[in-house]
Amino acid sequence: MAETTDQRQPVTLDFLGDLKRTHDCGALRSSDSGKRALVMGWVHRRRDLGGVIFIHLRDREGVTQVVFHENVGSHVHARAGMLRPEYVVAIEGTVEKRSPETVNPNISTGEIELVAEKVWILNESRVPPFPMDEFAGIAEDVRLKYRYVDLRRPQMQKNIILRSNVSFAVREFLCSRGFLEIETPFMTKSTPEGARDFLVPSRLSPGSFYALPQSPQIFKQLLMVSGYEKYFQIVRCFRDEDLRADRQPEFTQIDLEMSFPQKETIFDVVEGMVKRVFEVAGCKIEGAIPRMTYEQAMRSYGIDKPDMRVPPFHCVEDLFEGQQLAAEGLPLVAIHIPNTGTPSRKDRDEIKAFGQERGLRVFDDAKRLERDFPEQMARVRERAAAGDNDLLILAGWAGEKKGQRPEHTVLLACGQLRLYCAQKYAGKHNLLDPKVFKLLWVDNFPMFEWDEEEGRWMAAHHPFTSVLDEDLDKLTADPAHCRAKSYDIVLNGVELGSGSIRIHRRDVQARVFSSLGLSDEEARLKFGFLLDALEYGAPPHGGIALGLDRLVMILAGEKSIRDVIPFPKTAKGTDLMCDAPSPVPDRALRDLGIRLRG
Ligand code: ASP
Repeated sequence: MAETTDQRQPVTLDFLGDLKRTHDCGALRSSDSGKRALVMGWVHRRRDLGGVIFIHLRDREGVTQVVFHENVGSHVHARAGMLRPEYVVAIEGTVEKRSPETVNPNISTGEIELVAEKVWILNESRVPPFPMDEFAGIAEDVRLKYRYVDLRRPQMQKNIILRSNVSFAVREFLCSRGFLEIETPFMTKSTPEGARDFLVPSRLSPGSFYALPQSPQIFKQLLMVSGYEKYFQIVRCFRDEDLRADRQPEFTQIDLEMSFPQKETIFDVVEGMVKRVFEVAGCKIEGAIPRMTYEQAMRSYGIDKPDMRVPPFHCVEDLFEGQQLAAEGLPLVAIHIPNTGTPSRKDRDEIKAFGQERGLRVFDDAKRLERDFPEQMARVRERAAAGDNDLLILAGWAGEKKGQRPEHTVLLACGQLRLYCAQKYAGKHNLLDPKVFKLLWVDNFPMFEWDEEEGRWMAAHHPFTSVLDEDLDKLTADPAHCRAKSYDIVLNGVELGSGSIRIHRRDVQARVFSSLGLSDEEARLKFGFLLDALEYGAPPHGGIALGLDRLVMILAGEKSIRDVIPFPKTAKGTDLMCDAPSPVPDRALRDLGIRLRG
């Protein structure tokens, strides 16, 4: 019978001495039977069947079953009896094939066991805060407090190893394409990614502060001015934002920049890199990554990062002219989800309520629509390629026009409704299958976004982004329709990365700053060194940054980036393990010339 008690006896520890591991715990196969092996690792599980003691020994590479027979000698047997979960041991013995009925097909070493002859107890462990294998339901706070134990769990090890492999593949790929890995400073001056900076007080210049970089944006542009041509870095970025569910105050980007590129040059590099990374994770991306403009994405998906696993919606206002189904002059949208079957009354009510909460008028009764507008609905069905077994609803704007681009307000609401419907029926035919990967490029984003609170235009990407050549005059004349040479790479509805072709001319940069309401003086104060650099032969250049955490999260099939970051912070930005941030002694503040208020 398996022993369930966990009473610990005082243990005298053995020295490592000159012991050497011969195999890791994932290595031994039936072809090794008869060989001697010395393995080291952690006691994953222990079963004491009276005379015979089984140990599952675990290390990074796997688990090996070790058996201590009664005849191993009383000393060794007694030592084996002292082992408890997470003790660190070295065990030497002979590899033996398991009998067919005891083979474990779930582990790589499942055909063998190690018949132990010697054991060294290298360290003990307190009872771990949670078992390594029965993990479900452990509060995340506990995992984060004991992160060093949590990271020992095979699932976490798999994620962290995948992360390392992805980084390696990125380096290998980019270096093979002539990119140089160049470091940029962490202690620097404010960078313009739109969030708040983390500040570091300077002791040597009291009253002055460094800012931690929100991204290496300006430095990578300066490297292009300096003639390095192709730069990359797998780099930590810091943004002091009010943390939304799955954000981290420090996160990692795959950041790159090139001189003299066309947008396509950058797409090509990133496409190759992403495909390579997917291969490393055991997934394959077929064919070229499709492209669409921001305007197309809005008109077909109502979002700038469409999830291509779900079919687009269709604007059909042209088919219903003069029918007053919804607000005049604004889009009327047909949302179509395949193979849902006839929606229940309850589903329809919920869909309608969801749309109404977002300002939409929802026509959820397809039968009635078909009765009232037979011809039009036949054409809607044709446009959407919708079958009889599909969900088909219409949605338009219910009230007054709203926002700087009212048609976008409608499309955005319809986009949310489309995703809501997709999620409702996702289970039915695996519509949002996490193992299906759909990549997409979206380009030509608007240059500016209207900031309601501040009542002014802000840079939609960042202020160093080029305007489309044909939109240069719209910079001041029509900022709402001014498009940028910017692009995002999107994976299953998640923005994986953003980039742009940059401004390389001093005069254009000055015009963009002024469109953003930045006076010459302010621009000089903030980015004077960049403006200066643009006057010393800056080449045309452009680049992109991809979120490494998100990429690995998706590849690992995890739901939170915290599960692919070794030492993440909570949603409140705290590190529960080392208790950061924390107060500092008065003296440290005095040295920095800082007095706390209140
Ligand atoms: N620096 C930008 C960001 O962090 C990326 C880029 O434009 O390359 O989003």
